Amino acid sequence: MLDLQLSTDLMNYKLPHDTLIRLSGVLSEPRRSTTPGPSVLAFETALLAEGVCTLTAIRRHLAQTEKRGFSAIEELIDDLINAFEVCVQGIYPRPEYLGDEVDGEMGLTAVDAVWFLVLLEAIGLEVDPSRLADSLIAQIEDRTLLTSTEFDILHYRHTLGKRRIRLNTDTAQLVGQHSLHKHKDSIGNRYTVCSRGDLPYSLEISGRKYREPKPREAVTCDLCGMLYVTNHPGDARRHKATHDRVVRRLNPKPSTRLQKRVASGVAGELVDPDAPLWMHGEVYERAAAFRKEFGYDVIQWPGGSSTCAPSDWRGHLFAGPGGEIAGACAFMHTTSRKAEGEWSLQWIWIAPSFRRKGLLESRWTDLLQRYGDFDLEKPLSAAMVAFLWKHGSEAQRASLPVF
Ligand SMILES: [Zn+2]
Repeated sequence: MLDLQLSTDLMNYKLPHDTLIRLSGVLSEPRRSTTPGPSVLAFETALLAEGVCTLTAIRRHLAQTEKRGFSAIEELIDDLINAFEVCVQGIYPRPEYLGDEVDGEMGLTAVDAVWFLVLLEAIGLEVDPSRLADSLIAQIEDRTLLTSTEFDILHYRHTLGKRRIRLNTDTAQLVGQHSLHKHKDSIGNRYTVCSRGDLPYSLEISGRKYREPKPREAVTCDLCGMLYVTNHPGDARRHKATHDRVVRRLNPKPSTRLQKRVASGVAGELVDPDAPLWMHGEVYERAAAFRKEFGYDVIQWPGGSSTCAPSDWRGHLFAGPGGEIAGACAFMHTTSRKAEGEWSLQWIWIAPSFRRKGLLESRWTDLLQRYGDFDLEKPLSAAMVAFLWKHGSEAQRASLPVF
């Protein structure tokens, strides 16, 4: 698996020394006004139409938008492409006849070109990839699979001004005093230049919205038991979903759907193949709670909110006094002990605040009528053993461990 996640954490790149010095010079000059001229818009239109551009075209484009240092950017592009590891490939005119020889030149696909422009903007250069990024995002709107470059472009507006990038060079030949210089440009980008003997060897650019990432650590939630990483948006979302599910099981709110089902009696709590899917889903939730509380490996309910459990399984949801889904149990039909088959109670789970309130006791006679003198899947909890000594049938009591 390749793990891909959005990151605005520090990114490090390496540049030749001369290129870093010249780039620092460009970035230390005041920004100029940037109204896109006709040639800028023409480049964008052509790039989107062809899906590719030559390095010559992108060089010319950048010279139009980044004019500081007498458009020095033109001569820095090759090194920046190398540093950012942008994929350069041959771009060729379509041959008039198949088999014709054609002359091409080096260039980029539209996606790689836009991604390159996004990085150049992030290091403070005067280029505006916003229109191109929007158009490419619209083009990939229907796609469910993306490349890492497309993933970055998709998040263009989300990460705009939030990146921190450091460009380094080899310091081997540098001598003299270390010094550190900080400055800020007119749109809020912050620069830190480290030099030795007046020659910069490291240039760090933080966007105007860059914030130091908060510390992350792995923690386990006491309530839902989920292990997650703090200050991680994806983990926060996943934890919230799990946490809310657990809270819904532990502190159930009155359910109007269940109230309607049980209006005509306890039979409305039955979850068989004819019961609505939501009931199969709610039994599944309690089966999951049972597994978690007692540390079993599998969830013993072969249904869920999108599939009914098969007919050799029966569930029951227990309505609390206010119509809450206070608990559930599941029976399975088995021929393991008797050739003619019998029902066996697999598990019972009741939310802690509804325990010892007579929910099971008031249903036991009904369950015995429905499933006969049923067996119970062992091992049993101490509470269940105590319950059976009091309310179990003769056969059920006989199966209990004797101390
Ligand atoms: Zn939690």
